[in-house]
Amino acid sequence: MTHSPLPMRVPAAGLPPRVRIHEVGPRDGLQNEKAIVPTDVKADFVCRLANAGLSTVEVTSFVHPKWVPQLADAGEVCLRLDDLPAGVRLPVLVPNIRGLERATAHGARRVAIAASATETFARRNLNRTLDESLAMSAEVVAQAKGQGMHVRGYLSMCFGDPWEGPVPLEQVVRTARALADMGCDELSLGDTIGVATPGHVSALLDALAADGLGADRLGVHFHDTYGQALANTLAALQHGVTTVDASAGGLGGCPFAGSATGNLATEDLVWMLQGLGVETGVDLDALVATSVWMAERLGRPSPSRTVTALARKE
Ligand code: MG
Repeated sequence: MTHSPLPMRVPAAGLPPRVRIHEVGPRDGLQNEKAIVPTDVKADFVCRLANAGLSTVEVTSFVHPKWVPQLADAGEVCLRLDDLPAGVRLPVLVPNIRGLERATAHGARRVAIAASATETFARRNLNRTLDESLAMSAEVVAQAKGQGMHVRGYLSMCFGDPWEGPVPLEQVVRTARALADMGCDELSLGDTIGVATPGHVSALLDALAADGLGADRLGVHFHDTYGQALANTLAALQHGVTTVDASAGGLGGCPFAGSATGNLATEDLVWMLQGLGVETGVDLDALVATSVWMAERLGRPSPSRTVTALARKE
């Protein structure tokens, strides 16, 4: 090797100085793995990610084991987390009141709820009409806020829905507004099937801002199904968004939408942000080593371009 495999740092105009990466690999990634990962490996994965500098690591989901057997040991994973850096945020997903109660019993202080911007996805994913699912979310959020928790609201299908097609901006604004009004501290706008393109991202963020939902309350959750995740992220950053979801090694997709593959890989995101001079606090080498370690446990290589490129150079 004749030079260090790092991007040249060349800042671009109009970008925030720092981005908080919301790491979803242990939850969104592993819930979509066919293999059942041992509890100790899951806990170790979370700790390795936190020690690589990821300040927010979504640990697991307290979903009913019948729906996602891969995460049946959610409580046990929470109890096995140690060797964590101070101040790391460890949210867990809670699909309903029962999940919130389990999360609380296992010490969670931050939770995330999942809602849909479309009727069909609400029915297929949550077995409820959209309004019924929002009412259920409101109950969970109220109880979590009553316990002083920080609540993140995931909004799925913000750009396209596999059954309904393109999703009108006003429909996304309506559901995002509902989540904000019920008390969510932060919203994560999900491109669940990966169909967004940068102009669409800009248009949605403009529409949300016009409704009073500014970038300071928003995160973005892009999927790389059509290779657009980084371009979409850059568009969001140019709109002032500073929270970006990503999955170490590119693990996971969506178990309920067959066409969805590929969360944005955290390493690919960190590579771009390093080049742009945007601080993340993440040690890319440690992160790549973690994803290589996890890929060995899963028995298949990471789909992340950056992991592939850097691992090859080791
Ligand atoms: Mg995802």
